[in-house]
Amino acid sequence: MDWSPHYPDYCSTPSIPVDGNPTEASSSTAGQKKVEFADVGCGFGGLLIALAPQFPDTLMLGMEIRVSVTQYVHDRIVALRQIQDMFPDSSEESAEAVEPATSTVEGVGATPVAENAEEETERLAEERENEKALKGKLDGGFKNVSVIRANAMKHLPNFFEKGQLSKIFFLFPDPHFKRSKHKARIVTTTLLAEYAYVLRPGGICYTVTDVKDLHDWMMHHLNLHPLFEYIPTEELLAAKDPVLLAAMTSTEEGMKVERNKGSKWAGCFRRIEDPLEK
Ligand code: SAM
Repeated sequence: MDWSPHYPDYCSTPSIPVDGNPTEASSSTAGQKKVEFADVGCGFGGLLIALAPQFPDTLMLGMEIRVSVTQYVHDRIVALRQIQDMFPDSSEESAEAVEPATSTVEGVGATPVAENAEEETERLAEERENEKALKGKLDGGFKNVSVIRANAMKHLPNFFEKGQLSKIFFLFPDPHFKRSKHKARIVTTTLLAEYAYVLRPGGICYTVTDVKDLHDWMMHHLNLHPLFEYIPTEELLAAKDPVLLAAMTSTEEGMKVERNKGSKWAGCFRRIEDPLEK
């Protein structure tokens, strides 16, 4: 997988020799940053956009099966990266930036006319504060976030190696209410083996839904799996885990549930070390 188009600041194109057979050195990913957070079924990308500035040094990826929705998230990220580029690094901003505007009047020589200089200084200082606040939100420039169109239920291990991820998210996944459709749910015993494979020991799997039946289903399967251990939600909320807070409130579905004053259920599980691998 060539990640350089997704994260040009962090990954370079792997070089493939002319004979087409990558040597160990040419296919090496040493020195390249790797994706650590995966939002499976990311929808319109709200979680990624919320987390990107909070973890500016962590690469995160949304996986979405719908083409148009993936394109939307892609365009959203491109636009956010462009906005960031419009704001130069504050360290480069000179003190002149907050100097009041002065002008010279023709015929009066070089005498500066600084009418309402105080007001102008205040206005510019306020503008600068607003810029700073915006810059805070844009921290990292969204260079650490990307999206891919993929069927995560089929191709997850094609994108990540063993133990690569520190967080995986299943937020408001499709409920597939009918019993005959339950096997299409994103959390099943078979798929949990894949999620455990790409998640490193200590990594966390976050699930959030507004469908109680689906919550019970996900909890049941995760509780049964030998490589996942339940983390009490209250524990994470008491510790103000910013990731859980974002997972519950920043996705588009999560916001919709909030607007409709609906209930949400969260279940978080830690990937434990495989006793057979110790
Ligand atoms: N997580 C987002 C949120 O909370 O706003 C979206 C939730 S939406 C109900 C479920 C999303 O999962 C949809 O955008 C759907 O296209 C996507 N999805 C369903 N099955 C998928 C799969 N196998 N691989 C990737 N995405 C999938």
